[in-house]
This record gives sequence, structure tokens and C-alpha cells, in this order.
Amino acid sequence: MFNVDVRLQIASLIFLVIIVCKYFFGKRLPLLSAHMFSALLICGCVNLGFDIATVYTVSHINEVSPLLNDILHRCFIISVNTLAVVLYLYVMVQGRHQKRFCVKDFLLLIPYVLAFAFALFGRIEYYVAYGHAYSYGPVPYTIFGCTSFYMIAVIFMAAKLNFSKEKRRAIIIGSCFWIAAVIFQSLIPYILVSGLAVVALILFIYLSLENPREYRDTDTGCFNKRAFHLMADEFSSKTKKRYQVISVVVNNLDYIMSKNGHEQGNIFMSQLAQYIEQNISHFVYHTRGNTLTFIEKGSGMTALALAEKLSNRLDCEWESEAGNAILEASINIIDCPKYAKTTDELYDMMNFMAAESKNANVKIHTANADIIAEKKKMSAVAEILRKAIDNDGFNVVYQPIYSVKEKKFCSAEALVRLKDTQTVGFVSPDVFIPLAERTGMISKIGGIVFEKVCQCIREHKLSEHGVHYIEVNLSAVQCVDPSLTRQLNAVLEQYNIPPEFINLEITETAAVESGTALHMNMHLLKEMGCSFSMDDFGTGYSNLSKMAEVHYDLIKLDKSLVTPCLKPDGEKAFVILKSVVQMISQLNIKIVAEGVETREELEMLEKLGVDYIQGYYFSKPLSEADYIQFLYNRELQ
Ligand code: C2E
Ligand code: CA
Ligand code: CA
Repeated sequence: MFNVDVRLQIASLIFLVIIVCKYFFGKRLPLLSAHMFSALLICGCVNLGFDIATVYTVSHINEVSPLLNDILHRCFIISVNTLAVVLYLYVMVQGRHQKRFCVKDFLLLIPYVLAFAFALFGRIEYYVAYGHAYSYGPVPYTIFGCTSFYMIAVIFMAAKLNFSKEKRRAIIIGSCFWIAAVIFQSLIPYILVSGLAVVALILFIYLSLENPREYRDTDTGCFNKRAFHLMADEFSSKTKKRYQVISVVVNNLDYIMSKNGHEQGNIFMSQLAQYIEQNISHFVYHTRGNTLTFIEKGSGMTALALAEKLSNRLDCEWESEAGNAILEASINIIDCPKYAKTTDELYDMMNFMAAESKNANVKIHTANADIIAEKKKMSAVAEILRKAIDNDGFNVVYQPIYSVKEKKFCSAEALVRLKDTQTVGFVSPDVFIPLAERTGMISKIGGIVFEKVCQCIREHKLSEHGVHYIEVNLSAVQCVDPSLTRQLNAVLEQYNIPPEFINLEITETAAVESGTALHMNMHLLKEMGCSFSMDDFGTGYSNLSKMAEVHYDLIKLDKSLVTPCLKPDGEKAFVILKSVVQMISQLNIKIVAEGVETREELEMLEKLGVDYIQGYYFSKPLSEADYIQFLYNRELQ
């Protein structure tokens, strides 16, 4: 049928069609760059189609109408140039993070428009011989020149704009390949390699820049954080359009994973993602381990309605082979660009709302002026913390702990305070400790507190005042730090404090979330001689099997287990407290009751057999000097 060998072109076209099918049938992000890549694929197919058609008409020049041959050649030539321009625009969008085109960008299309016009009316010559046939003359040469111009521009752009190494390499190699093919084709027109070069270029881009896997999250099957970042950039570039970013934060995911294994957690997250995809939004992004996010165009009303629908579903169980679970999630809505103009502002806001809503009772939270004010306050607190780390801005206070058996204050809990109470007023550690954890400052603060405690033990020779140990709080972030044991040991050695004088408090939640890394640290520290307390028992998951697994020396019952017992209707609370105390005693673990404020509470706890009492009834947390005075006074009694 063909007098010229077009097998390479046909094979290239088939190959390209496979890429096209894979791309169009897969799930794509609605990004500007994705639209441009779709255009590139279509241009590639059209170009190869015209390529094959023109090979046929020129090699049968005496049999087909000269007009048809001429039109097809002009179309083919224009399609080559269009392909180069689309590639140029595509690379521009990719390199500029999805920013929209501006008028200046279109000035660069002038050579294309001129070449286009010339291709319509300029002169084309045809060479036909047995075994090869091709076109030449002013139009093909102009177009090849123009194409080369855009391809060189593509290479420059790839080198200059903000691309990763791999992407830059793919664009440059692919483009060089095509330029080489265009030059080769102009010099040796009867070997048809240009189609192959087009496919190679598209394949390079597909694999390195448009590979759908790059944007997929393998755990949940939805889009990943990188995809979200690109979409957020795209949305924020359309400054006037209003849109809502809705995040679903599964607050008990760590617990589910620690109880049922990571795979189960992933299964529930993918079920949630599927539900959102099928009922609420086609594009769901796994933006953080426990967070799924989607974006809705338009006003807050629709977002709120969707959030309510989702909230209703979240009230029901999620099923899996290994068991069912309730996902305790908060749904946070951010009205953009009102409350977040840039992608960075959006992340800040998402993180802030996720942290704030973690323990809230309401499920749906909408960004508002109060949240912005709170966020500003938190930024100010973060600044205070930063300064406090460098300028000795922390104090440690001590809350005495009473031993029921010894009838003495034989220990105390060290609690951190900020010296600066002026800038934003008094800030409770309940507020600044979680903030320090989120902002990566907690390890330094923990280190400062630990050193101050050791200093105090040494300076005031606490052991000589009947104190057996000081309890120091460890945050979840410190628990998983592999250098924790080394750091603590160095300070103990520096102040010559026996490790037995230190009891480290870990909250249940931190223990559940920190997993094996914590166990390693605990093992090493226990070997050294430190003891451990489980803090805030009764507020977290109260995962008893975990408690038996890890060896705690003390368990600190939270105030919320104690206080309700002596309230009217406190019978049930008392039954719970009584059985908790019995159970812990049977495990041979000592018990501290926290937050004891009244004599009645003290008597009740003593009767139940609690070993230690801590609370305002005996003393509020005291400054170092006051604590020493407190111990002296007690000795005199
Ligand atoms: P926590 O470890 O549960 O500490 C006990 C908290 O209860 C302290 O609050 C203490 O002042 C308060 N408290 C003690 N007795 C009573 C009472 O009878 N009634 C009432 N209502 N409260 C009482 P504080 O000092 O504000 O600390 C709050 C939380 O901040 C601590 O809770 C702990 O989780 C964290 N924190 C404090 N210092 C540190 C520290 O140095 N490192 C770490 N990682 N966390 C700390
Ligand atoms: Ca504590
Ligand atoms: Ca506590």
C-alpha cells in the first residue's frame, strides 16, 4: 500500500495510543498542566496521523488529488509546530507551579502565528523517488526553524525554572531527542524518525512528570499530599474564585492502628476515602497520616452541608474483617482565599485547626475570625518559646506528692512555666507544650526542664529532705527520640544524680502513639535505673493490655476519675475508681491520685488503698525556693 517504509511511524502511533488510553482512562488531577498534557497527547496523535497520511499521499502523488496532498502536508507541518508550542506552554505551567498564563506569555507565540500563516500560503516542494518521498522548500524549512526555536526555549526553561533533577532531565533529554530527529529528518528526509522522536518525548514526560502513580497514595487509593499541593497551588492562583478546603482528621487513628495493626488503620482510611469519593467529592487527598482533604468550589453553605452529610456517616461504624471501628474525626472547613490566600497559609491553617479540634466536642469546625485570632496568639506564643529557649525563659515549679504509707512528701512532680507572663499574659503548659511539640521545640524544652530538675536535686540535696524521687514529664516527641537516653544520662552524670532519683511520666496517649521507639527508650532508661509513671490514666484510651505489656512503676489516676466520685450521683464513678484501683494494685503497680482538692477525696482515696496523693489539697505547684521551704516546714512539724 505504501511505497515508503512507514512501519516506524505506525508502530509509534500504536505506542502513543497506548499511552493516551492509559492516561485518559486513569484518574487524573484537574490541573492546568494535566490539561496541557492532554493537549500534548492529542497533538501528538494528530501529528502522527498526518505524518502517516502525508507519507501516503506524497508517495502516491500521481494517484491522489494534488490539493489533498497539499492540504495534508500543510496540516502536518502546522501540527509539528503546534506540538512544539503546546510542549513549550506545558513546561511553562509545570515550572511555574500551575500559575495561569498572562498576556506577556502570549507574545512568545508570535513566531508560531507567523509560521502558521506562512504554512498556509507558502511554497512546498515534493520529492518523489522509488522507496522514498518527502516535502521540502520554504514552508518545511521555516517550520522546522520555528519548531527548533520553541524546543530550545523549552530546554532553557527546563534549566532555569524550578524543576526537580529527574523532571529537568526528562524534559531536556526528550527535547534534545526531538531536535536531533528534526535535524536528522531535514538532512536525510527519506528516513522517517520524527514520529518516533515525538513518542519518545511524550513518553519521557509521561513517565517523569505525568505518571499518575506519582500522585496516588498507595495506602488509601486516593490522591497524595503532592497532588493536593499542586491543586492548592492551582486554586490559590485563581485569586478571585472562592473555594472551601475541607479536612477530615481521624483523631483516633493511632489508637486503631495500635490496637488492630497499621493495615487495619489503612483499610478504614481507604473506606472513608471511598465514601467521600462516591458521595461527596471526586478528588480526595491523603494530606496527612490521619487526614483526608477535599476541595469544594463555591460558598461555605455547600461545604457545611457536605460536612454534615459526612459527619452523619462518621457516627456509624466502619466494617472490616478484623472488626468494626468508629472513626472519631473532626471536620475542618477553611473558606479560601478569605482565611488562607497561599498554599503555605492553607497548610498552616489546616495544621492549626487539626490541633485545635483534636479534643473538641463538636465535630465540624469552620475557620472564623476567632480562630484567626487564636492562631495569631499561638504564633506569638511560639515566638516567646523560641526566645525562652535561648534566654533562660523557663522556670520549673514542683508540686509535692504525699506518700500515704510514709505519711511524708517523698516526691514531687516537676512542671514547667514560662517566665514571660506579659507579652500575651499567662500561658498554661497545657497550651504551650502541645505547641512546642508541633513546632519541634519540645526536645529542647524537655532538656532544659530536665537539667533544671537535676540542678535543684543536687543544689538542695533533696534526698536529705526525705525526697526519694522527682517526677518529670516526657512528651510524646521525646519518647520516640533515639537520642533521649543518651541526653538524659549525660545530664544525670553532669550533676551526679542517681537515675533512681528520676521518675519519668508518660501519658497514655503518648505511649500508645509512640509504639516500639518508646519501648526501646524505656528499656534502656529502666536498665539505667529510672522508673516510669503512666500519666493521666483514665483520660486516654485506657488500653489495659498495653499497660500490662509495658512495665510502669506508677500509674497516675487523672483528676477526672477522682472528682466525680463525691459528687451527687457519683456512685457509678466510685465503682469505676474502686475497680481501677483494685486492678492496678493486683498488677503490683503503685498508684498516685492526681488533682486531689478536698479532705473527703483524700480520705476516700486512702481507704481505697491509693499509695500517693497529689493535688491542691496539700499544695499547688511551688517555685523551687517555696518547695524547699515547704519541705523544711514539714520537717519541723
Ligand atoms: P499533668 O502532667 O497532668 O500535670 C498535672 C497538672 O494538674 C498540672 O497543671 C497541675 O498544676 C495540675 N494540678 C495539680 N493538682 C491539681 C488539683 O488539685 N486541681 C487541679 N484542677 N489541677 C491540679 P499544669 O502545671 O498546668 O500542667 C499542665 C500539663 O502540662 C501537665 O499535666 C503536663 O501534661 C504538661 N506539662 C507541664 N510541665 C511539663 C513539662 O515539663 N514537660 C512536659 N512534656 N509536659 C509538661
Ligand atoms: Ca504529669
Ligand atoms: Ca497528669
